[in-house]
Amino acid sequence: MTVHVVGAGLAGLGAATALAEAGLAVEVSEAAAQAGGRCRSYFDAQVGLTIDNGNHLVLSGNPAVKAYLARLGASDRLTGPAETQFPFVDLASGERWTVRPNPSVLPWWIFSRARGVPGAKLGDYLGLAGLLNAKAGQRVDEAIACEGPVWDRLMRPVLLAALNLAPEAGAAELAANVVRETLAKGGAAYAPRVPTPGLAAAFVDPALAYLDARGAGVRLQRRLTGLEAADRRVTGLTFSDGGAVTLAAADRVVLAVPPWIAAELLPGLTVPDAFESIVNGHFRLAPPPGAPLITGVLNSTVEWIFCFEDRISVTVSGANAIIGEARESLARRLWAEVAQALALPAHLPPWQIVKEKRATFAATVEQQARRPGTRTELANLALAGDWTRTGLPATIEGALRSGAAAARHVIEETRR
Ligand SMILES: Cc1cc2nc3c(=O)[nH]c(=O)nc-3n(C[C@H](O)[C@H](O)[C@H](O)COP(=O)(O)OP(=O)(O)OC[C@H]3O[C@@H](n4cnc5c(N)ncnc54)[C@H](O)[C@@H]3O)c2cc1C
Repeated sequence: MTVHVVGAGLAGLGAATALAEAGLAVEVSEAAAQAGGRCRSYFDAQVGLTIDNGNHLVLSGNPAVKAYLARLGASDRLTGPAETQFPFVDLASGERWTVRPNPSVLPWWIFSRARGVPGAKLGDYLGLAGLLNAKAGQRVDEAIACEGPVWDRLMRPVLLAALNLAPEAGAAELAANVVRETLAKGGAAYAPRVPTPGLAAAFVDPALAYLDARGAGVRLQRRLTGLEAADRRVTGLTFSDGGAVTLAAADRVVLAVPPWIAAELLPGLTVPDAFESIVNGHFRLAPPPGAPLITGVLNSTVEWIFCFEDRISVTVSGANAIIGEARESLARRLWAEVAQALALPAHLPPWQIVKEKRATFAATVEQQARRPGTRTELANLALAGDWTRTGLPATIEGALRSGAAAARHVIEETRR
């Protein structure tokens, strides 16, 4: 019996490694020349460094991330501050502050001037509770008043990053789940963690080594082009390299491809069909000594600055409005803001701009309703991907949860 995992993004790798751990025979097929999907590292000749397609932040308490890295023996590949802290700078006013939630569930940090959001009153924090009581189908701005210091100076930037769209227009259900898994769990659950030295070293290479050690095949540049089905089962797979696989009765498929590809392969499947972009700027300049690993930036195009040893990289989420702008103009604009935020020379260092047009599905109420579950009408085919119904916005944690859910489903089925 073989499980065919199609797509080697983190959902596919999460599923494949869990299946291999359970002792099942696994064959992974990936269309691209490298694994990792939207989570990949590459050598960029323009900037002269190995960089990630985009900065990725995970949180210390993300359960699926922890389980995945532990499985791969790669738990040491994330770095971040020992204590939960989020430094911010407002480029319009020049103000700087650091939000420092205490580790325990009781959030006494909101009473502390030194740790909380400057200018915030208790009521500004309590107003967020409305999110947790949001009704199904509500937008964030229908569930809570999107205003005040806590919203402007903490929640808006955090939810913009998590939902990857203007959070006012986001699905309250998704924003509430983000709050449940972060603020509601205490600071220890949401210390920022960044893959080090990059995405491939943390999330991709250890998975490929794990699969290789267990005899699982990973074939790159092998695009699934067709699925044959009969009697509500997948019976055959055809690939771009001319290969075709006839499935034995016990064989299974985990389809871990982007939603538009899944819909092409499985006509009639409802999937998210609206997307949001992310723009990342990478600048080859060592950050100033003592610069925080990440800094939130307000009243700017740049939203988050990531300081790596050899480069400074910035993220602009919900970037549909600027995705069409010329690269050099973007690089100049973003660098001017970085220089202001980190007190660096205005001269533009070697740079690269990476645009991901369909970075995530748009985390709106309408799109949330289009997310399918793990199971499909085809008994031996399970879906995985950050766009499936994980309860979370499109994130690494969501992608890995979806992979784990697909693997669990397959394992349960094979034990029947
Ligand atoms: C710039 C950027 C920044 C981000 N920042 C963060 C962040 O800070 N924190 C966070 O948690 N998340 C972040 N995300 C989201 C995160 O990257 C994704 O949620 C996650 O990588 C999705 O993984 P996936 O496996 O679901 O999908 P994908 O990575 O899209 O994987 C799908 C795979 O299927 C392959 N494929 C497609 N068609 C076929 C076919 N026909 N046959 C075989 N293979 C096929 C693709 O090549 C791809 O490798 C970011 C995303 C981007 C783009």
